[in-house]
Amino acid sequence: MIEHRKPIPVSEAVQKVMEHAHSIGAETVSLEHSYNRILAEPIVAGHAVPPFDRSPYDGFAIISGSSREASGDNRIRFEIVDHIGAGKVSAEVLSGNQAVRIMTGAPLPKNADAVVMFEQTVESTDSFTIRKPFEKLENVSLKGEDVQQGEVVIESGHLIHPGTVALLATFGYAHVQVAKQPVVGILSTGTELLDVSEPLAPGKIRNSNGPMIAAQLARMGLGCKMYGLSMDDLDQSFTIVKKAAAETDCLITTGGVSVGDFDFLPAIYERLGAEVLFNKVAMRPGSVTTVAVADGKYLFGLSGNPSACFTGFELFVRPALLKMRGAEKRYLPHTKAILAEDFTKANPFTRFIRAVYDGEFIKPAGFNKSNAVASIAKGNALIVLPGGTRGFEKGDIVDVLLLGMEEGSALWKL
Ligand code: AMP
Ligand code: MG
Repeated sequence: MIEHRKPIPVSEAVQKVMEHAHSIGAETVSLEHSYNRILAEPIVAGHAVPPFDRSPYDGFAIISGSSREASGDNRIRFEIVDHIGAGKVSAEVLSGNQAVRIMTGAPLPKNADAVVMFEQTVESTDSFTIRKPFEKLENVSLKGEDVQQGEVVIESGHLIHPGTVALLATFGYAHVQVAKQPVVGILSTGTELLDVSEPLAPGKIRNSNGPMIAAQLARMGLGCKMYGLSMDDLDQSFTIVKKAAAETDCLITTGGVSVGDFDFLPAIYERLGAEVLFNKVAMRPGSVTTVAVADGKYLFGLSGNPSACFTGFELFVRPALLKMRGAEKRYLPHTKAILAEDFTKANPFTRFIRAVYDGEFIKPAGFNKSNAVASIAKGNALIVLPGGTRGFEKGDIVDVLLLGMEEGSALWKL
């Protein structure tokens, strides 16, 4: 008997997946291993930045009051009493028309409250003249102007990107608390599948989904356990899925979730006693995408069709893993763009079309079926067309989800 599945809207499916994501705790890593991890503690400023008043230029530190009468007709002379570069502290306490030759980053000497840039002076051996008055704190980089001591600069839950690494280093975080990485397994099911190194044979194709998902995970800073290929055989697949589910926090399978004679994942979920969150989503491609939970572990059953598999990962797996890692921004960033080509085919389900986005216009990335692989390679975004009876025309403003962005969005907008 044909099984009838009830499709649920994409937004509902996303919500169901996210409800089941649980945090998996934190660990400490060294700064050099912190890139692409998620902060599990806030970054707190242990000191002000800059930590002292300093010169932002190469020039001379002076007492501003001593320059008050300076003009083109009345150049004022300063005597150079010391010379410091960044990293040095002058022992001089300035008075009157004394000045310290000072380089960018060096702390202002005592009593100095302005910096004259080289270009603003006429120099001779031990002195220089200026032709304009300087205001108090002119050309001074003030202590704490960037960050105040004690400030929470970045909250827990944020991605550690290169700027975050710079901040951690600034405050002496040689080690930092980050969310643990979920252990993710990948199993590609299908009797037709060959490994990448195998020659083609009649009826066979190479497994592209497994390596693709490994790369999608790598893009998020996650590794994976590869469970290889499994034939469309219930007992064999069950054994591997059971073992893999026990060894991982999240197992991603591809293929075998549909209603075909050799699609065994539904039976495997049943044997495992897994709770199936949904097995039909009102989307194209990937309507058969199934998500189940067994013993608190995720079982993502993605379609074997490469475009469907790719989309299922981006829409469901990625945000769930980000939530498990404590990330605040879990969803693909959303924007709007102008459709550059007609897309006349109407569909009752929401469509996700691999597409090329140039910052203003967007167009499908090529052959557009769920079994397409080339368009995944060519695309950098997904066009999202709501389900309904109408097609879309060139010039229409459409929803776009951006792919491969370092950090996502805090909201699911569609
Ligand atoms: P299935 O989801 O098992 O019904 O497979 C749907 C289609 O995707 C079939 O044409 C499969 O041959 C193909 N397919 C399944 N698994 C993979 C894979 N790992 N890599 C590439 N294509 C696949
Ligand atoms: Mg199959």
